[in-house]
Amino acid sequence: MSTLFSKIISGEIPSDKVWEDAHCIAFRDIHPVAPTHILVIPRTPLVNVADAGEGDEALLGHLLRVAGLVAKQEGLSDFRVVTNNGAGAGQSVFHLHLHVIGGRALQWPPG
Ligand code: AMP
Repeated sequence: MSTLFSKIISGEIPSDKVWEDAHCIAFRDIHPVAPTHILVIPRTPLVNVADAGEGDEALLGHLLRVAGLVAKQEGLSDFRVVTNNGAGAGQSVFHLHLHVIGGRALQWPPG
C-alpha cells in the first residue's frame, strides 16, 4: 500500500532528513510535539509492528538502533521512542515509524 511515507522515501514529498541508510530514513516530524521529534521509517513498507514477520527481526532491531543514533546526533541523552500500532492507538500513517521525542521533560504514562 502506498502511503505518504512511501512518497517521502521516493522524494516525491520533501522532508527534513536527518538520517539515511540502505534500510531506513529518519526525518523531522512536520508537527513536532517536542523540540526534537524525528520519525524513523523502514524503506520496506511494513504497516506497523503487528505486520512484521520473523524475517523482519533484523530490520526492527536496526530501526531501534538508528533511533538511538539520531537521538545522540541531536545531543539527547533522555528521550522517548514510541510507535503507534493501529488507529485506536493513534496511528495515522500506515507505514511503520518510530517516533523519537525529546528535548523537554516527558510525562508518563502517555495518552
Ligand atoms: P502516527 O500518528 O503515529 O501515525 O504518526 C504520524 C506522524 O507523521 C505524525 O506525528 C505527523 O505529524 C507526521 N507527519 C505527517 N505528515 C508528515 C510529513 N509530510 N512530514 C513529516 N511528518 C509528517
